[in-house]
Amino acid sequence: MKLIFEKGNTNRGCDLIPECDVPVVTLSQKFHRKIELNLPELSETEISRHYTELANHTFGVNNGFYPLGSCTMKYNPKVNEELAKLPGFTDVHPLQPEHTVQGSLFVLQQAEKYLCEITGMDHMNFQPAAGAHGELTGLKLIWAYHHDRNDSKRDKIIVPDSAHGTNPASAALAGFTVINVPSTDDGLVDVEALRGVVGEDTAGFMLTNPNTVGLFEKDILEITSIIHQAGGLNYYDGANLNAIMGVARPGDMGFDVIHLNLHKTFSTPHGGGGPGSGPVGCKEILSRYLPSQGIIEEDGILGFAHKDEKSIGRVKSFYGNFLVVVKALAYIMTLGAEGLKDASCNAVLNANYMMHRLGDVFDIPFGNGPCMHEFVISLNKLKKEKAVSALDFAKALLDHDMHPPTMYFPLIVYEALMVEPTETETKETLDEAIRIYKEVYAYACKAPETMGDYPLTTPIGRPDEVKAARNPILRFDFSSK
Ligand SMILES: *Cc1c(COP(=O)(O)O)cnc(C)c1O
Repeated sequence: MKLIFEKGNTNRGCDLIPECDVPVVTLSQKFHRKIELNLPELSETEISRHYTELANHTFGVNNGFYPLGSCTMKYNPKVNEELAKLPGFTDVHPLQPEHTVQGSLFVLQQAEKYLCEITGMDHMNFQPAAGAHGELTGLKLIWAYHHDRNDSKRDKIIVPDSAHGTNPASAALAGFTVINVPSTDDGLVDVEALRGVVGEDTAGFMLTNPNTVGLFEKDILEITSIIHQAGGLNYYDGANLNAIMGVARPGDMGFDVIHLNLHKTFSTPHGGGGPGSGPVGCKEILSRYLPSQGIIEEDGILGFAHKDEKSIGRVKSFYGNFLVVVKALAYIMTLGAEGLKDASCNAVLNANYMMHRLGDVFDIPFGNGPCMHEFVISLNKLKKEKAVSALDFAKALLDHDMHPPTMYFPLIVYEALMVEPTETETKETLDEAIRIYKEVYAYACKAPETMGDYPLTTPIGRPDEVKAARNPILRFDFSSK
């Protein structure tokens, strides 16, 4: 499709800017434009059609199945958007006196209360803007805790190889050295290997649970106690709480600090770059180090607690992405304790259903037992025998009005496809996806040489991804007009 700069004609609209209602100031010559501003001039209908066409080229959960593993691309109830749009939430200023924003403070207080109950933590802080930001914040708490106790030799964070990629990155960014522990053949943390690396320099351990092959770490209590006995703290990557909310609580499993991705599990659509929210929860022993100290109530009036002198300091302006918290609270309160549990159970059921039904055709490396909310397929055999890669397979799925699964992640599975159906899909949708996966697989075996041609129906087929990443063209070249 054409860019908006390539459309329209001169003198067609563009007179929508209101009359100037402030004193006119004459700028000095050096600030004057040297070349024409070149704004596109389109009629209202043309603009409307342009953006509708763009929207039609966008694939989202409202268009079709979107089982992007590790991302929880589920349907987010529209009513929560409506609630977050209420003027009482959108028209407040972060510097307004506290007594004028009691409703917003109540939202923060309630959201903290519920998320603590769901996770088993004592405090929840809403400043971090996303998951990885929450990780960095949580790791800073661990750092502050050890330094406050004059135990600064603890500079190692242990991370299993089945962790989400952001975990080792965040640990390194927070100033720690990362120690890797391998997984066993079952795809779980190798507890003996873990014992071998803990010591007096262990600051903490970061666990992605369910891990990136979609499994619940069954030795979780033993793991957290090994770390505690060595004097370290346990970090729970709870970005994918979708498998366990309402069922099991990280706080009861020996974790001291956690982050959540409200934009995955708790009703904020994501994938376009934000806004997200990655609240950090912690046990009492870490509360003083939090970026801010939460909401307090005095004589029936809510207000912000004074920042503790030991706080690690702000990680984001004001109170984080507040409207995402509004949606999360609305979601939690609509579903209630039973509803949250049902959501998790159905997410796990849907993933197991698909995994089980695909298992007769596909190689599912850790598919012996039940998975949690997602599972991982390996197309390594197809790659070796027919030279059809996970990328080719994913591209072919695009012609079937569905988003492909996550590719090439986790790294410990070759030619990986990571499927997360989520609880918001019906059995019919899953059956149709299963049928198409098998159909594409059969086709790939029969005519492997054609698999490099797909997709055939999308606006762009196979872009040169390296070139697109290295030499992105982000501006329109007006001289070409
Ligand atoms: C998505 C995800 C993250 C990172 O979250 P962002 O909001 O993208 O920064 C971290 N850990 C896990 C397990 C995730 O799935």
